[in-house]
Amino acid sequence: MGPLPPMIHAYRSAEQALCVNSFLVEGEQAVVAIDAPMFVSDARAYRARLDALRKPLAGVLITHPHPDHYNGVAELVDDDQVPIIALPDVDQEIRARDPEKRARWVPVFGDEWPKSARYPNRVVPAGAAVELAGLRFTPVDLGPGESVSETIWVLEGPRPPIVFVGDLVFEGTHPYIGDGMTAAWIDALTRAQETLDPAAVLYLGHGSPVGLPSSVLQEQKRYLLMIREVVRRLAQGATELSAEQKKQLVETMTTYTGGARMTYLLEWGSDALAAELAHAVGG
Ligand SMILES: [Zn+2]
Repeated sequence: MGPLPPMIHAYRSAEQALCVNSFLVEGEQAVVAIDAPMFVSDARAYRARLDALRKPLAGVLITHPHPDHYNGVAELVDDDQVPIIALPDVDQEIRARDPEKRARWVPVFGDEWPKSARYPNRVVPAGAAVELAGLRFTPVDLGPGESVSETIWVLEGPRPPIVFVGDLVFEGTHPYIGDGMTAAWIDALTRAQETLDPAAVLYLGHGSPVGLPSSVLQEQKRYLLMIREVVRRLAQGATELSAEQKKQLVETMTTYTGGARMTYLLEWGSDALAAELAHAVGG
């Protein structure tokens, strides 16, 4: 009998903290974290979960440069020796945009926003496997999608394969569309369909783990095609939606999904999507 697959401990934040998942992957001797929550209170609870495993933290792997995936690293890690690993574009985007995100969100969330960020301290190229806690993770670069750079981390060894896909796919919630790159996201989903093992189990940034990658990715694509069409019709070439149009968008997408959570993401993100469509050549 081969070694047991590592245990995966999911920490899920509340709905006002985006239902975001962070994962602790428990190896024989140490633990690897995949992302860390957005709010200080969640990051402390995540840290307490880690402490209760009574194994050291071997490193943190970052999926993409959104604060609900990296903010909490500042609470999780207090030692510069612990590697915080990202692909180059993810690292660059975090450093470039963290100050403006802090300026925008501290007035909204107050003390729940960490006082300072802890940025990645090790940048690795796509495809280069990382060995931590006796586990082997390979980063796959899917390029722009839900954010400017999406990494999926494949845990090598277990069958069926375990893949941490960040925000490539949402389950049970509306997605964040505020970076205005839904066309690129659809392409990234197609690339993922060609890349992922059909037996893989996907661990998502928001929602429960899911099997059948191909159909899950297809469903996310369909959602994006649908919301692009709804926003196109509402906006009619404008780069913003009115409050009334946003309400209509939420109603339509609520019906389409059978009542997915986090409708506020649509209100945050719909202007970015309208602008994306208005600026697209041949829109
Ligand atoms: Zn995200």
